[in-house]
Amino acid sequence: METKKQIAILGSTGSIGTQALEVIRDNPELFSVEVLTANSNSDLLIKQALEFKPNAVVIGQDKKYKGLFEALDSHGIKVYAGEEAISQIVEMEEIDLVLAAIVGYAGLKSTLAAINANKQIALANKETLVVAGDIITSLAREKGVNIYPVDSEHSAIFQCLVGEHENPIEKIYLTASGGPFRGKDLNYLESVKKEEALKHPNWDMGDKITIDSATLMNKGLEVIEARWLFHLKPEQIDVIVHPQSIIHSIVQFEDGSMKAQMGLPDMKLPIQYAMGYPTRVKSDYKRFNFSDYAELTFEKPDTKTFRNLALAYKSLEKGGNLSCILNAANEVAVEAFLKDQIGFLAIPDMIERVMDEATFIKNPTYEDYIASDGEARELAGNLMKQFV
Ligand code: NAD
Ligand code: MG
Repeated sequence: METKKQIAILGSTGSIGTQALEVIRDNPELFSVEVLTANSNSDLLIKQALEFKPNAVVIGQDKKYKGLFEALDSHGIKVYAGEEAISQIVEMEEIDLVLAAIVGYAGLKSTLAAINANKQIALANKETLVVAGDIITSLAREKGVNIYPVDSEHSAIFQCLVGEHENPIEKIYLTASGGPFRGKDLNYLESVKKEEALKHPNWDMGDKITIDSATLMNKGLEVIEARWLFHLKPEQIDVIVHPQSIIHSIVQFEDGSMKAQMGLPDMKLPIQYAMGYPTRVKSDYKRFNFSDYAELTFEKPDTKTFRNLALAYKSLEKGGNLSCILNAANEVAVEAFLKDQIGFLAIPDMIERVMDEATFIKNPTYEDYIASDGEARELAGNLMKQFV
């Protein structure tokens, strides 16, 4: 009998995907790889496939298919290409758990397909819940699918909730490192370049989330993610800046007691907790040493300077399709910043304009979300000229 958990990693060549493979490499008796997917990095995908011997691989870009096929076919690994194929492959019968680690809106469709196919989900792709949290969580409930959070803050909350099933949450505190520009003012931020924004003090992540961490949009997206994962009202979710990134988040219960989850910042921990749940997988990762940290400190986030966090709360309070609009505008703005087309402070300006101008829909359907994403991207694209 097969007792290993058979895993599909969507986005295996990214920061989360490669760390998930490290976890699997260290625990071959617990996990096996069924499927790997990537967008364009076929060289790394080939290397991963030759090591982990999945049943199938999928590459997003069609033009990379031939090289991939030539490298893997003789090893008995099935090769597919195209966006559609990523959403179809998750239906494979052998898969127990899908790790959704594609970045951005591009991860929505395949995550939805995986839930529809009754696969358990380890969710790194927070944008999925930001865009369509109501649809994703109600479909998961209907299908009896568990969504295990990979995001470190949400994993922390999830870990604090184990054994607390009967006890309502009063509020949660999501911790934020504050990013590379903590304490800086608008004057300073006006001229910062992507090279500085890409230097995160505590975490080594993909470019998009690293910029989101510098603008505090990452924490904004996480507030929305938490709302859907833990069924909370916006006023039950607070953000606290904790520059050492040792406390990963906190739950406060109705008796006033607070539980926090701690550890050194290493994404392999929440990744393996999500993949191994309910088992804690033994590891030899570096342990926290109290003498390395004379103090753990906390401060309020500066939402006047880092307006993205306030915009995310606004989208959550107004509801409807506004978080979907916020997400699309943010993806366009971050990409433009990474291409040196707009300045750092233009990011929140663009998002706010798009949120004001895009069509608001109170009770959106899935099709409405797709249309809103498209409309918001077009508006953001048109606004670009004003911000260069
Ligand atoms: P990354 O950019 O390093 O990797 C993204 C992966 O997605 C790559 O494998 C890429 O090939 C694939 N991909 C990108 N666009 C695609 C497309 N259009 N179609 C198909 N595949 C596509 O990103 P990351 O840092 O690993 O982040 C992945 C997700 O996890 C994001 O949603 C991020 O917010 C979340 N997350 C990441 C971290 C972290 O430490 N990196 C922490 C918490 C949450
Ligand atoms: Mg996080």
